[in-house]
Amino acid sequence: MPERPANVEPARADRVSVLLPLPLAGAYDYRVTDDMRIATGDFVRVPLGRRRLAGVVWGPACADLTEAKLKPIAEVFAVPPLRDELRRFVDWVANYTLTAPGAVLKMTMSVADALEPRRAVTGYAIADAGRRALVAADSGLTPPRRRVLALVGEGGAATASDLAQRAACGAGVIKAMAATGLLTPVSLPAALPPPVPDWRLSGPPLSSAQEIAAAELIRKVRQGGFGVTLLDGVTGSGKTEVYFAAIAAALERGRQVLVLLPEIALSTQLLKRFADRFGAPPALWHSDLGHAQRRATWRYVADGQARVVVGARSALFLPFRDLGLIVVDEEHDASFKQEDGVIYHARDMAVVRASLARLPIVLVSATPSLETTINVQSGRYARLHLPARHGMARLPEIRVVDMRKQKPERQRFLSPPLVQAMGDTLAAGEQAMLFLNRRGYAPLTLCRECGHRLQCPNCTAWLVEHRRVGGLQCHHCGFTTPMPPTCPNCGAAGSFAACGPGVERLAEETTQRFPQARIALMASDTLVGPHAMAELLERVERHEIDVLIGTQVMAKGHHFPMLTLVGVVDADLGLSGGDLRAAERTFQLLHQVAGRAGRAERPGVALLQTYMPEHSVMRALASDDRDGFLAAEATSRREGNWPPFGRLAALIVSASDADAADRAARAFARQAPHIEGFEILGPAPAPLAMLRGRYRRRFLVKARRYAPLQAMLRGWLAAAKLPASVRVQVDIDPYSFI
Ligand code: ADP
Ligand code: ZN
Repeated sequence: MPERPANVEPARADRVSVLLPLPLAGAYDYRVTDDMRIATGDFVRVPLGRRRLAGVVWGPACADLTEAKLKPIAEVFAVPPLRDELRRFVDWVANYTLTAPGAVLKMTMSVADALEPRRAVTGYAIADAGRRALVAADSGLTPPRRRVLALVGEGGAATASDLAQRAACGAGVIKAMAATGLLTPVSLPAALPPPVPDWRLSGPPLSSAQEIAAAELIRKVRQGGFGVTLLDGVTGSGKTEVYFAAIAAALERGRQVLVLLPEIALSTQLLKRFADRFGAPPALWHSDLGHAQRRATWRYVADGQARVVVGARSALFLPFRDLGLIVVDEEHDASFKQEDGVIYHARDMAVVRASLARLPIVLVSATPSLETTINVQSGRYARLHLPARHGMARLPEIRVVDMRKQKPERQRFLSPPLVQAMGDTLAAGEQAMLFLNRRGYAPLTLCRECGHRLQCPNCTAWLVEHRRVGGLQCHHCGFTTPMPPTCPNCGAAGSFAACGPGVERLAEETTQRFPQARIALMASDTLVGPHAMAELLERVERHEIDVLIGTQVMAKGHHFPMLTLVGVVDADLGLSGGDLRAAERTFQLLHQVAGRAGRAERPGVALLQTYMPEHSVMRALASDDRDGFLAAEATSRREGNWPPFGRLAALIVSASDADAADRAARAFARQAPHIEGFEILGPAPAPLAMLRGRYRRRFLVKARRYAPLQAMLRGWLAAAKLPASVRVQVDIDPYSFI
C-alpha cells in the first residue's frame, strides 16, 4: 500500500462498512484490497470470525480500527449493486420497527446462494414412451400426467417445479414420470428468464368509469414520481382490469412492477387472468416456492428481467433493478402484517418504499382500511372510484337473521331462514356458500359429568376437535393429541361433548339436511398440497360442487358465476376480544364474503346470522353504508386517540415461567419513562397469557400522532436490564392483540 504523509487524514477509500444479513447492531468495517473496485451497494463476501459471509457495502467505514484489526473483503459478486433507495429502505424499516438493520437486510438477501454464478439445472423433456402415451387411446394416463406430457410435448423441456406449477400437480408426479420413462432428464443451461408480459396486448374494452380510473393511473405511471392512489371500488367492479392497465403502462416504459397480494395461494384466478391478459404469467414470490425457483427469480428481479412480480409481503424486499409501480391489492387485509421476526406492515412499508424510490403506488380495495380512508380525506392520498359492478352483475342483498328469534334446533347451527334459502338455491340449480371462520369440528370440548374443558398444555386456549384427521389441535401452537378415552379430571368414560360449530360440523349438518347436495370444505387444513386450492376452485367453477363450506380462505377474490347465496353462520365471531379494529375487520371480512354472491347475471343474497342485529357492523352491512360506518368508526377512534389518530405500540414481555414473567414486567414498568405525549398501559397478562409455553405480559404504549415513539421506546429498552431468559417483543402499529 502506498505511504501516506502522517499529517493528512486518509481518504479511507481503502476501507468500507459492510452490512451483514444478521441481527447485529450495525455494519462492520473491512479493508478494500488494491485489486478491487468497490462501490456502495456492491454484494461482497467477507470474513466474520471463522465464517465467510455475503453482505452489502453500506457506506464509508464507521469505526477507526487499526490496520491490523481490519480484515480484507474476500470477494465481490458479479450481481448488480443494491440500489441506494433499497439501502435507505432497509435502514428506514429497521429504524421504524426497532430491529437490527441486518435483520431487515436478511429479508432482501433471503436466498443465500443467489449471488453465485448461475448453474445448469435439471429439466425434463418428453421421452418416446411419453409421446406414444399421449396419442394412445388407452394409455391409462391420469389427467395430471396427460397435462404434463402435453406441456413438454408442446413447450419443450422444463424444470420439475415449473412443470408442476403449470400442470397444477406435485413435483413428485414429474419425478415419477421420469422414473417410468415417460420423461427424460436433460440438463438445461440455467433457469430460463421469465417470459416477458406483452403490454401491447389489449385487455377487454373498459366501461367509462373504468376508463377514467385507468387513464388517471396510466398518467401517474408515465409521469413517475411518488404518489399514493386508492383504487376504491365495490367487489366485481373491475379494479383488477384497471390496475392491469397501469401495469401495462409501466411495462411500456420498460419498468418493473410489484403486485402485493395478501395470500398468493388464494390467488390462482388472478394469476390466470394476468396470463390471459399479458400472454405470460408473472414471476411469483412467496414462501412455498422451491429453492431453485427462488434463486432464479431473485436473480432475474435483480438484473431486471423479471418484469412483473406478484408476491406476498416478503416480495417488498426484493432487489428490483428498476421498479416503476407498486400495487397493493386488498390493501385492508390484515395478513399484510408480518407478526414474527421483523414485525412490519407490508402495505405501510410499501408506501415507504414507493416514497424513497419516488414511484407511484396503488392501494386497491372494496373496503379500504380506516388508515387509508383518513389519508384520502386529508388529501395525502388520491382516490379513484368504481361505484358499480361490471356488466349486469348487481351487488348482493345483505339480510340480517336475528338468531334470538330464529333459533336453530338443538345442536344445529343453521337457522330456519338460512336452511330455507339453501333449499331454494339448490332447487334453482345454483350454488351456496357457508362461511364460518373456524377450522375443525368444534372449538370446545367439555366433559358432561364434571364440566372439565380440554385445554392446550402450552397456551391459554381450548383444544379444537378435528374429526376428519381425528384428534384435538391447538390453533396457536400446533399441539395435537388424540381424544382422551376418559375425562382427565373425573375419569368418566365417553363423557365428552362437542360445543359449538367448526366448518366440519357445518358440513355434517348440511349433509344431513341436503343429502343430495355435493359439498366441499375449503379451509387451510383441508386444502393439502399446493394445488388443492386451484383444483377445488375449478370444481366449483365447473359446478361439481353445490355447497362450499369454508373459512376466510374462501372469502378472497374468487369469482363463482353460479354462486348466489352466502350464509354467514356466526357474524359475531370476530367482534369479541380486545382488538381495536374488531368492528372494522368484521365489516371488511363479511362484506368481502357477501361479495362472493351474485357476481354474474344471477342476483345474489347474503344472510348474516347474528345475536347482535343492532350492532353498527350488522346495520352498516344490511344498509350498504360503508362510508357511514367508517365515519362512525373514525369518530370513536379519534375520541380515544387510537390509531390512525394516535399511535400505538405493543410490548410483550415473556418468560418461561409465570413468576419470572411477572418480575420482569414489574422491573420493566419501573423503568418506564414519563414523557409528555405518551401513555403507558400495563403490564397486564396478554389475552393469550401463555403461548407456546411462554408466559406473556403486555404493555400498550399510546402516543400522540407526531410523538417520537421509536426514540421513547429505544430509551426505555436501553434502560431496562432484564435477564437473558426474558424476551421483549416490540410491535409498532400492532394489529394483533392476542
Ligand atoms: P374486482 O377486482 O373489482 O373485484 P374484477 O376485476 O375481478 O373486479 O372484475 C369482476 C369480473 O368482471 C371479472 O370476471 C372480470 O373479468 C369482469 N370484468 C371487469 N371489467 C370488465 C370489462 N371491462 N370487460 C369485461 N369483463 C370485465
Ligand atoms: Zn397451544
